[in-house]
Amino acid sequence: MNRIGLMGGTFDPIHYGHLLVAEEVRQIFSLDKVIFVPAKIPPHKINKKISDPEDRYIMVLLATLDNPFFEVSRLEIDKEGVSYTIDTVRQFKEKLGKDSQLFFITGVDIILDLQAWKEPEELLRLCRFIAVTRAGYDLEVLRRKLPKEFLERIDIVRIPSPPISSTDIRKRVRRGESIKYLVPPLVEEFIKKKGLYLV
Ligand code: ATP
Ligand code: MG
Repeated sequence: MNRIGLMGGTFDPIHYGHLLVAEEVRQIFSLDKVIFVPAKIPPHKINKKISDPEDRYIMVLLATLDNPFFEVSRLEIDKEGVSYTIDTVRQFKEKLGKDSQLFFITGVDIILDLQAWKEPEELLRLCRFIAVTRAGYDLEVLRRKLPKEFLERIDIVRIPSPPISSTDIRKRVRRGESIKYLVPPLVEEFIKKKGLYLV
């Protein structure tokens, strides 16, 4: 059985928080690889301004280049419209076949409102969820908030996730502050070269 991690996100931009989470979870759960899946238009960010999907995709590629266990998928950015996790997971299941077991990796902030997602029961049937620590969020809230049937299919793991967010990085760039040690050097160069997040 191949054990495949899927890491969805907007990655606007990708940062060391995402990379560290993916690498920690890969080791803890003995995953064969982690596939990053940049979203085109995430359902919870429909009314927000987000960068060109191609730029976000390139930054994910640059950031993951040096890790042989990391891959990047164009599945969501090549699709029309909003991307729902259930559709993405179904497509990966089909593509990877019966020999692969899927693990969907998220921060606790994202999975808190799992009940509002499209077809959550089916989603949890198709893949296991791995919810990791996120600075400012209490993992225990998850145990209180989600129904028991959901929690049985979710692994909640405490990892030393750094207090980094893309929102903060965008703010720093706009204010002309340093983003060194928050994103990989190539991502920092790309942001500068393309003039991202200045307005
Ligand atoms: P934004 O501030 O724009 O929402 P973000 O930093 O939350 O950006 P996303 O692309 O929204 O990044 O997140 C993708 C996934 O990575 C989500 O599951 C999120 O919970 C997780 N994640 C992001 N940053 C961290 C972090 N520092 N620690 C743990 N998980 C994280
Ligand atoms: Mg986020």
